Amino acid sequence: MNRHAVLASLLFAGLSLAPVGNHVIADEQPLFGYSAESSRAERQWEAKLRAIPSPENLRAYMQHLSARPHNVGSPYDKDNAEWIAAKFKEFGLDTHIEQFDVLYPTPKERLVELVAGGPKFVAKLQEPALAQDPTSSQQAEQLPTYNAYSIDGDVTAPLVYVNYGIPEDYEQLERIGVSVKGKIVIARYYHSWRGIKPKVAAEHGAIGCLIYSDPREDGFVQGETFPDGAYRPLDGVQRGSVADMPYYPGDPLTPGVGAIKDAKRLKVEEAATITKIPVLPISYADAQPLLAALAGYIAPEGWRGGLGITYHVGPGLAKVHLKVKSNWDIKPVYDVIGKIPGSVFPGEWVIRGNHHDAWVNGAEDPTSGMVAVLEEARALGELLKSGWKPKRTILYCAWDGEEPGLLGSTEWAEAHYDELRAHGVAYINSDSNGRGYLDIEGSHTLEKFSNEIAREIQDPETNLSAWKRRQLREIAKAKSAEEREEIRKRGDLRIPALGSGSDYTAFLQHDGVASLNIGFDGEDTGGIYHSIYDDFYWYTHFSDTNFVYGRALAQTGGTAVLRLADADLLPFEFENFADTVQTYVKELKTLSQKMQDDIRERNREIEEGVFQATNDPKRPLVAPVVEMVPPHLNFAPLENAVETLTRSAAEYSKALEQANSHGGAILTSASLAEVNKMLIESERKLSTTEGLPNRPWFKHQLYAPGFYTGYAAKTVPAVREAIEQKQWKRADEAMVVVGRVLQEEAALISSAAARLTGVTR
Ligand SMILES: [Zn+2]
Repeated sequence: MNRHAVLASLLFAGLSLAPVGNHVIADEQPLFGYSAESSRAERQWEAKLRAIPSPENLRAYMQHLSARPHNVGSPYDKDNAEWIAAKFKEFGLDTHIEQFDVLYPTPKERLVELVAGGPKFVAKLQEPALAQDPTSSQQAEQLPTYNAYSIDGDVTAPLVYVNYGIPEDYEQLERIGVSVKGKIVIARYYHSWRGIKPKVAAEHGAIGCLIYSDPREDGFVQGETFPDGAYRPLDGVQRGSVADMPYYPGDPLTPGVGAIKDAKRLKVEEAATITKIPVLPISYADAQPLLAALAGYIAPEGWRGGLGITYHVGPGLAKVHLKVKSNWDIKPVYDVIGKIPGSVFPGEWVIRGNHHDAWVNGAEDPTSGMVAVLEEARALGELLKSGWKPKRTILYCAWDGEEPGLLGSTEWAEAHYDELRAHGVAYINSDSNGRGYLDIEGSHTLEKFSNEIAREIQDPETNLSAWKRRQLREIAKAKSAEEREEIRKRGDLRIPALGSGSDYTAFLQHDGVASLNIGFDGEDTGGIYHSIYDDFYWYTHFSDTNFVYGRALAQTGGTAVLRLADADLLPFEFENFADTVQTYVKELKTLSQKMQDDIRERNREIEEGVFQATNDPKRPLVAPVVEMVPPHLNFAPLENAVETLTRSAAEYSKALEQANSHGGAILTSASLAEVNKMLIESERKLSTTEGLPNRPWFKHQLYAPGFYTGYAAKTVPAVREAIEQKQWKRADEAMVVVGRVLQEEAALISSAAARLTGVTR
């Protein structure tokens, strides 16, 4: 069926179409990657799609999916997977469940007690049920509070407070003259992904780690606590994984391969991502007596939290006994995969996903995102019934095991590595949703595309487009006139790079499939993350209570999938991409310069006697030592590559413009398939088989989670982290590798431009 026939069938079906008179159509710019004709049809289908999602359905799905605890291995986790699969089937998707068998520890013994230096205290390690909140009482099914993939251990040692437990905090400790060697550290949540805290603590010689939720971050300092308000109550605990995912995510026993039944598995002792020291999360009620027992140095100003005590660093006489033991079982994870086959390019896959597992009931994380994905699947099913046929194959995925370590998505992306390398066009992820602003992060080859999608979505609170609302907020938050100028003039809003923390990781950083992460947030923060209070009661009282942002997310995800799946020419674009890479190279140069300047200045101050003169003998600090000023690095390979890349990107835009000026008619030519193949290849080319120098699982040369940040992205990671870690030779070597990768990318873009011009002629 051609587009005219589709249009006719739509009219015949009496569907409401957007009022587009002929003259309006003539003036209308065709959608990016579409001919004038296919663009008209696409707009109709998209308008129809966006009218389908219903807040009532979203609410009903959430009520069902969050009715009971549904962590990996629980009966309700499997129930939910089967329920989602049945829904996908009912909507008309060709659906199956794919099972993987993964290492999944659950707590067997947990103990935290203060054994010296204060009144004897045994931590409760328990979140109480609340009368108002019906599901909070499902204690028999709730996973106790713990950090998954903590090594077993039984340690007793003096306690030291390490603030957020990130590398800078240890530099501070060094100046204070406090060592954590042989100690148990207590760190507060935030400012890094939680797994970084025990990792850095162990690197500094600590033998145990407690992580607590300080009320300053998400408790009573921020607002009323649950159930009166949205914030963390005194016994609320943040569960979570502490596996070393910046090294590799997924099943710790099967790095790089799918954890299918007969996969070759490491022994538990051989798994590099399990922590080196025992770690346990605690509430602020449990943390307060421990922190109050600390003596020694008064915590630096930025280290003081919201508890009504004087924060000390320690150590003092306070001694803690920490015991953690897990059941180290292999458990099944159930990924639900629903397919709509492509009618023209079945070998090109557009993939959309969200996880379905939770730590406990997980209404917000992940169900608020999962329900939008379900409603999108229903909407696409409705379009199919009206005669719509996507050109490309669409996969709707509900991942299991995201919480403990991106297990379901990583194992799937590893098991299907070859197919994804051959067929993956793009992966669009979400993971939770709330009120506020549309956030899109991801591959910069899709930056223009994601801006175009944001322009189509109406913000429920302001009725502005989600794009406009976002732009105005960015203007409000900009720190300089220059920044504001760019936001007003650039045309497209910049999208942040992806680090890690959700299921896009394996697609983007291991398989090299262009990826986006989408969701609304910014107006309804709270403190129930990964606790038993993240449930239907909380969500329907304190978040997107009428599910209008759930509908907006379904409209966003659905529109993005539809537009990618139906495009004649895939909407990859390279001028924004080249511009972004250029900013990265500038940042790296500034970083290297700043490190030279800072070290030079500090050496000078040491020489001048600044540190002796400003030292308080009653609260002495250890003076820093003179350090070698970093050498000049060779940025030429990167700078040359960016120049080539910028040229190729312009060539491609020009070729595209030429193609469009032919009315886009030529875009229906069969040899477009060849150009599309090259466009798909454009993200693969950014990854190397060898991967990053210190972590080969991560293959992408532009985006990775920081080795010492976890969630936050490090762009051009091999170069940036070498500079940050003062490994100058490695930095120079990495610039050669990344330069080569970018040169090859530029060559591919140029051939795509040439091929497109050839098609047009
Ligand atoms: Zn999640």
